This record gives sequence, C-alpha cells and structure tokens, in this order.
Amino acid sequence: MTEFRGPESRRTTRLLILAPLALCSLLLVPMLSPAQEASSKVEKEKTEKELCLDYLKLTSRSEKVADLESFCARVEKLPKCVSREGRPIFHVQHESGDKRGKRILALGLIHGDEPLAGELTVAWAERLKKLDKFRSTWRIVPMLNPDGLLRKTRPNAAGVDLNRNFPTRDWSEEAMAYWEKSQKKNDRRFPGEGPASEPETKCVIAHIKDFKPEFIVSNHTPYRVLDFDGPQMPFPKYPDLPWRALGNFPGSLGRYMWRDYKIPVLTVELGEKMIDGEHLQDIIGTFAIDAVRRAGEKKPELYDLL
Ligand SMILES: [Zn+2]
Repeated sequence: MTEFRGPESRRTTRLLILAPLALCSLLLVPMLSPAQEASSKVEKEKTEKELCLDYLKLTSRSEKVADLESFCARVEKLPKCVSREGRPIFHVQHESGDKRGKRILALGLIHGDEPLAGELTVAWAERLKKLDKFRSTWRIVPMLNPDGLLRKTRPNAAGVDLNRNFPTRDWSEEAMAYWEKSQKKNDRRFPGEGPASEPETKCVIAHIKDFKPEFIVSNHTPYRVLDFDGPQMPFPKYPDLPWRALGNFPGSLGRYMWRDYKIPVLTVELGEKMIDGEHLQDIIGTFAIDAVRRAGEKKPELYDLL
C-alpha cells in the first residue's frame, strides 16, 4: 500500500525523519562515530600508566616493553598538560647536582606523525635514569601531541600545527598571513585561531614557566639536519646529521624562544632511520653549556613574562 501514499503522507514521513536530526543539531549532541565512541570509552577506563604505554608503543619500533614500562612508571604531569581531546601529556625530570650543567627542556612529537622523534626523546630519559652522573638537569616531554600520534597526523585534533601556534610577538600580525600567502593554506601548517589557542601549546608554555629552561631541544622528523636558533657559535661535528638552518616562522618554537626571549632552541630533524642518540645527547649537553654562556644568563623574572 505504501506506493500509493499521497504528498501529505510523504511530508509526514520526512518530518518524522528530519525533526530528531534537527533537534540533535540544536542541542549540539556530539556526533561521534561508533568506533570513536568505543575507543574513548576504553581510554577513559585506563589508568594514566596504561595510556602512557599505549602512546609509547606507537612511538617505538622496538619491543623493549620493559624499558617502556620503566618510563611510564615514573611519569608526571603538569595540571595544564592535557590534549584537546583530553589525553594526558607526560614528562619526567632528571636532576643533576653538577654546577657546570644547564637546565635543558627536551620535547618530542609536537607533530603527531613523527613517531621516531618520540622514540629518541624517550630513549634520552631512559639513558639518564641508568647513568650515575650527568652534567645538566633534563626535563623531558616526549609525546606532546598524543591526539596527533593516535590519528597519525602532524596537527592536533583541532587541525592546528602546534609549531605555528606559539605566541610569538608577531603572531597576530603575521601567522595567518604567512599561512595564507607563503603556505597557500596548507592544512598541515594551520597556525590556529589565535596565539597559544591550543592546550598542547599551553602545556609547553607551562613547562617553560615551571622548569625555567636555559636551553630547549625539540625533536622532529624527517629533514635529517640539526637546525639551531641561538647565538653565533661553532657547531660540533656530528656524523649522523649535518647542521643546516631551516629558518623560523611566525608561531614557531624557535622564533618564540630565541627571537623573542633569547633562549636557544635546537631543532633535531631525524631522517627515516634512528641515529646514535646517546652520542647526540652528549653533544647537546656540551653544546648547551656553550650556547647558554654566549646567549647570556637568564634571570628568573624572564619566565614571568611568558
Ligand atoms: Zn615536525
């Protein structure tokens, strides 16, 4: 009988279908896919240590689960360090009593699709745990963009390139214009709706204010270079990666920390293969001492300006 329904009846059917949909959108009910709903429910039931292990397994090519567990057993988290989708952003700290040493902040996986960068950063933390003595105090935040890591995307869950979202002094004037003109609106490099609009960016700034680093190293892939934003100085030889300036950009960490605040930033760009990370960490330790001396000591008040 349905094939003989008149226009009136068809209108009623349409209304019956459309009304609940309209109501849903009015009430702003989040439209999660069944798979997303399932995964977020599973994640909510996990402890932070279990989540840490889940993320680490995505960064590691090796099966060294025991090492990963030892890292996750000692992670900490600043209150602000939660991703846009609510995932924790962990860190560890290794204190050195050596007066020659500096305060080094090491960051990994600002871009979620660079798992090797996360693996290198975790390996540095694991090495410090095993060493009896080391010169500098290191705070290590190896997985800054857990949402991007899970999605295998460079940007975070809001589609923002976190390394264009730092509140550089020129952000409001230049970040969007640079993205539109020079980057031709490349969606891998979207700087965000405003300076430091993203929770992951706020987490890095919270670490800088809390830890007061004198030197920052940020690990990336895939350009296979060491890129330094800091004072003029000789570069130590490191056979696995050549030194080459890639430049800095409105909203990038290098421009934010070095150009605006004179805190040197070393960007490590790995290639497709893991390098000798222990040798690199030793080189960075020595390099940081020289760089900080040349850049000038920083007063604690500097960090209140951020
Ligand atoms: Zn990157």
